[in-house]
Amino acid sequence: MTLHQTLTGPGAVPAPAPAPVTVARGDGIGPEIMEACLRVLEAAGARLAIEEIELGEAVYRQGHSAGIRPESWDSLRRTRVFYKAPITTPQGGGFKSLNVTVRKTLGLFANVRPCAAYAPAIATRHPGMDVVIVRENEEDLYAGIEHRQTDEVVQCLKLITRPGCERIVRYAFDHARAHGRRKVSCFTKDNIMKLTDGLFHRVFDEVAAEYPDIESEHWIVDIGAAKLADSPEMFDVVVLPNLYGDILSDVAAQITGSVGLGASANIGEHAAMFEAIHGSAPRHAGQDTANPSGLLLAGVMMLVHLGQPEVAERIHNAWARTIEDGLHTRDIFREGASRERLGTRAFADAVIARLGEAPRQLRPASYAGRPAIPLRPPAPRPRAQKVLVGVDVFLHAPDARPDALAQTLRAAEDGPYALSLITNRGVKVWPDGLPETFCTDHWRARFTARPGAPFNKPMLLGLLSRLHYAGLDVVKTENLYTFDGEPGFSLGQGQ
Ligand code: NAD
Repeated sequence: MTLHQTLTGPGAVPAPAPAPVTVARGDGIGPEIMEACLRVLEAAGARLAIEEIELGEAVYRQGHSAGIRPESWDSLRRTRVFYKAPITTPQGGGFKSLNVTVRKTLGLFANVRPCAAYAPAIATRHPGMDVVIVRENEEDLYAGIEHRQTDEVVQCLKLITRPGCERIVRYAFDHARAHGRRKVSCFTKDNIMKLTDGLFHRVFDEVAAEYPDIESEHWIVDIGAAKLADSPEMFDVVVLPNLYGDILSDVAAQITGSVGLGASANIGEHAAMFEAIHGSAPRHAGQDTANPSGLLLAGVMMLVHLGQPEVAERIHNAWARTIEDGLHTRDIFREGASRERLGTRAFADAVIARLGEAPRQLRPASYAGRPAIPLRPPAPRPRAQKVLVGVDVFLHAPDARPDALAQTLRAAEDGPYALSLITNRGVKVWPDGLPETFCTDHWRARFTARPGAPFNKPMLLGLLSRLHYAGLDVVKTENLYTFDGEPGFSLGQGQ
């Protein structure tokens, strides 16, 4: 059912026209925190023309594998702004993540999570923390392309694209500039994944050069993550590929004091989605104990996005004053430090009662006059000269031995190309492998053109045919190309 309603509260500020917004109340604690947030937004004078859609558990159970009905997309495409409470993803049964579906379908490439400490109002070991995590939202291992290839081996493809890197990195720098931040840090694992994470790092360096007013730095993700968890005050804006961003944005939110405080915006060229970072916490559902702060602060981000910064400020400042006054929900209540433990509804009432007030110790929010963050599509680039120079052939060969396998493979060589390498799980086992290397039933044989010799698709098909008739089980091939003379493939480990 779609419910249309217009919220026109008693805000003193001159109101812009009501902005169309799609709202989903979600599952678990979702409905009660959304109800609390909509009451605060209304009381603060937010002008929203709301369309409600239902998503989540009930919709999954009705047979919609992504948890959303086809007609809900019409609302999302009409309003282009989505205020979403958390939903429950049923376990097993081939259900797809609704969030991943919505982000990718609507092209919401940037996930922005401000993670700030609210000390002394909320206890945290990191009172100086004020970090914004900018996570790439569409690529990386989240392409969901997975295969089982042999009895023993499954794989997941990690896809990183140049336009994807350019968009997210530029967004991080533009966000830093618009919000008066001084530094952007990038985390990757490009010492291991030289092509995929290497591209993200390279694009980061290229884009950073366009923003000389903003400091930039790169960390290998493992030590960067350790520093972020231990000394978050070292960081300002952090930009990361999808998987690292997924993990570290939760770590960063948790160390601000409670995961219940975290808000996020998912931004794309055509639409945006605003939500709390936490899930539906089903065990706490219906108890009026959940903290609505994450969803409320997501609502603040939405109002800034909708061009209602004065309303956003009123809510943020009233919320900050409420927590400063020691009025806390269960998750952040500390005996001695907090004044009163409030339920979800009473917390929303306390925020509403403070609309128009500002915090005394915490920095008041100021959103008016901030430049909009430009969303520019990446500039087209000239195409590289691409030359086929070989092929990696992946084989399912149980109980094979490297030397014997090499002998069979070498029988399939032809004049222009030869077997140059065999690896198992990426480690070189031929030529000159070590007997200690553990081998599975999944092998990679690399055939490369001899110096000066041509290699082409008909030769490749001939090679595959000979391997097949030699009794080998080819499970996949990857062509080896150079791009403007640079190899577009990694060397085998130990090569
Ligand atoms: P969760 O975030 O729902 O809850 C983990 C714990 O954090 C809770 O038990 C609770 O102690 C605390 N917590 C979370 N939000 C809180 C709040 N607002 N106030 C007070 N305490 C809060 O994580 P989970 O239990 O792993 O996931 C539950 C369901 O939520 C799963 O089905 C999962 O798939 C889904 N989920 C949805 C989203 C989303 O819709 N964006 C995000 C994450 C998880």
